[in-house]
Amino acid sequence: MDIPNDHRYAINLNVRGIQPSATLRINELSNQLKAEGRDIIKLGLGQSPFPVPQRVVEALQHNAHEKDYLPVKGLKPLREAIAGYINRSERMRCSWEDVLIGPGSKELLFILQLAYYGDLLIPRPSWVSYAPQARIIGRSVHWLPTHAENNWQLTADELDIICRDDPSRPRILILNYPSNPTGCTYTDDQLLAIANVARKYRLILLSDEIYGEVQFDGRHKSIARYYPEGTIISTGMSKWLGAGGWRLGTFIFPPELRPLQDAMAIIASETYTATSAPIQYAAITAFNGGDDIDQYLHQSRRVLKVIGEFMHRRLTEMNVDVRKPEGAFYLFPDFGAYRDALEKQDIRTSADFCKRLLEDTGIAILPASDFGFPPDQPSARLAFVDFDGTEALKLAASDYADREPDDDFVRQAGPRLVNAMDKLEVWLKSL
Ligand code: PLP
Repeated sequence: MDIPNDHRYAINLNVRGIQPSATLRINELSNQLKAEGRDIIKLGLGQSPFPVPQRVVEALQHNAHEKDYLPVKGLKPLREAIAGYINRSERMRCSWEDVLIGPGSKELLFILQLAYYGDLLIPRPSWVSYAPQARIIGRSVHWLPTHAENNWQLTADELDIICRDDPSRPRILILNYPSNPTGCTYTDDQLLAIANVARKYRLILLSDEIYGEVQFDGRHKSIARYYPEGTIISTGMSKWLGAGGWRLGTFIFPPELRPLQDAMAIIASETYTATSAPIQYAAITAFNGGDDIDQYLHQSRRVLKVIGEFMHRRLTEMNVDVRKPEGAFYLFPDFGAYRDALEKQDIRTSADFCKRLLEDTGIAILPASDFGFPPDQPSARLAFVDFDGTEALKLAASDYADREPDDDFVRQAGPRLVNAMDKLEVWLKSL
């Protein structure tokens, strides 16, 4: 008798062949090598090194008993707190009804693409998950070119070129700044120019501002100021409050996009139902802010800035081409100057590069191919997060309260990062 097809393998074609999220994979490989006794410097996963501020932790403790399902769109006092937070920082006038809460902004990005039937436009390089999400849902992805000389920024002209072929096509443009993976951000003029093109083609502009609070100069601005009617601001608690594992993200919609927000809420109601209740109660404290949270952010920015600039300088001295970061905790170095030497070692792709670097030196970083580039692009993303964030914040607020953190600060606060740069230098020389 013929055995019928094995239905256990009837996996949705959109998911077949997709690897688990690249950042999580490198983290698992690093953990595995660590368990084998290797010293791994973890510059792969982009997790905040800082602790959750004490008052927010206490708020979570006080709300551990909250056990009821909450409204699908989120707890009203939290939605009010987030509207207040956006209005304070962006001088906007959004209302609590414009706010949608979800279990991480990643999940909200996914259900946005489920709810909206349009192509996804993303600059290359972009965060690892936008394109796989689109692929899982079956949406087309268009990568928009950017250039290192131009700080990897999308230009209004390049956006216009893509849109003008089919001007009325529904599209979502994702703009993420400060950027994962480059650490670069946009000037006001650049945001305004992009906003004008977005308006011309009536794009949905998803402004992923999850690193906005850790722009080093504290002057992040949302593009929603320039294209309020079409911009959804995406943020959360994962990057500026050190609470990635708490899983809370938020979208702030313009009233014009209420039908889209409602469609997302329908999907939410049939999938995750609502975001964890104790986390939502605790998040009210975070988004209401206060002097302690301002101080925490101020010190976080100082720490990230000095470390980012130190890493940038060290890499540049190694003849590696890299932009100076302006926010977040990433660098996107280009090892093209070593291409011939690498090829002699049979290292031809960024994935080979990262694997060999991990095996030879114990440094874990992510290949450019995970960020939308072809395999032979000789770049990688380095997340400078392998340091004790609690100690670094203490040091910044004590010994360095009245003076600029310097190389000595980096050596004290981030010895593993300094070690990574030393090891990388030796390895590149040895090629
Ligand atoms: N957007 C960017 C650019 C990110 O780097 C991340 C996390 O790494 C996310 C969104 C998702 O964050 P979360 O789901 O924790 O809110």
